[in-house]
Amino acid sequence: MKKIVYCLSIFSLLFFSCSSKEVKAVKQFEAMNTWMSIQGWGSEKCEEALDEAELAIRKLEASISTTNPASEIYALPLLTDGSESKISILDLSPEVFNLAQYALNMAEKTNGAFNPCLYPVTQAWGFTTGKYTVPTEYQLTQLLKDTDYSSVQINSENQLEVPSGMMLDFGGIGKGYAGDIAIAKMKSYGLTAGLLDLGGNIQAFGTKPDGTPWKIGIRNPVGQGVIAGLEIQTGAVITSGGYERYFTTDDGKKYIHIIDPETGRPVDNGLVSVTIVAKDGVYADALSTALFVMGEKKAINFWKENTDEDFQFIIIKQTQENELVIYVSEGLKDSFMEIENQDNADLKKQIIIVIKQEPEMTGGSSK
Ligand code: AMP
Ligand code: MG
Repeated sequence: MKKIVYCLSIFSLLFFSCSSKEVKAVKQFEAMNTWMSIQGWGSEKCEEALDEAELAIRKLEASISTTNPASEIYALPLLTDGSESKISILDLSPEVFNLAQYALNMAEKTNGAFNPCLYPVTQAWGFTTGKYTVPTEYQLTQLLKDTDYSSVQINSENQLEVPSGMMLDFGGIGKGYAGDIAIAKMKSYGLTAGLLDLGGNIQAFGTKPDGTPWKIGIRNPVGQGVIAGLEIQTGAVITSGGYERYFTTDDGKKYIHIIDPETGRPVDNGLVSVTIVAKDGVYADALSTALFVMGEKKAINFWKENTDEDFQFIIIKQTQENELVIYVSEGLKDSFMEIENQDNADLKKQIIIVIKQEPEMTGGSSK
């Protein structure tokens, strides 16, 4: 494992990108409530490809919006009148149908840690509007009744049947899926390499024009700049972070946008970020959210138990003693670069622990 000292005044995830003469086309735009930057190489149609990739992302965004009644997944609000149907039947485009199916499978696989049906709860906390409030225990108990993902069915006509009061929310998986769709579009135009930064989620394909691996920064979750660097070939590096969206109440308590589906409350387990490295964006995105919810012990066990699955992780925890513990799965050990961030000077210690597939953990470097 390498260690370098790095101090950034501005946040940068692609901190060793290609020189400008190698870039065939670059595009930046705002979509899915975040800033996106896509780059492509290797075809005369680079610019057209990036335009189409952007369009595909925008189309997906419109289709899975939870606030736009015209979106494909917008379900009817709770029906109190018994004369009306208690189920919304949603006709989905193949793309959204695949996403819904994938999300429901990931809910099963993660034993509900990833739950795409938490919309009523996130809405009650104000994460959908920015009008934040702390719901009462009673409210949460009531709302949790409408979050059972197993009650969402796919019928024989490939429609989604959503009980009234429920609504799907692909916030935890949508950006990764958008990246996969954009990459498919770029490849269909003959691009041989591409690099996407979709609000901090990095996805790459092909070989960088100079032949070296893509170098990617992992954002410092407790300060400015980056905390680690990674080298990858093709794949997705997707992070869920408590710093992304949160609010703080007058008593200083911080509430983050990732919800524990068992309690209906924002996750409060000490984790500050979870990064997943995997081939597909949709998978890495679902897992980053799920492992964040699980907490480090369950998340590490999930990784150990799913040896057939091809993913690696960087889980960062801030302990009550104000130490930062960085758990790095074995497969990333050689490409992981620790970056000593001077912004973290108030932290007592930064510890790196490499997690192996065997039961014991082995200690790493500390500062
Ligand atoms: P991410 O940044 O990928 O972890 O996604 C966070 C977003 O996913 C939130 O803003 C919610 O829209 C949604 N979300 C929150 N908690 C969960 C959860 N436990 N499972 C699935 N999606 C969630
Ligand atoms: Mg996610």
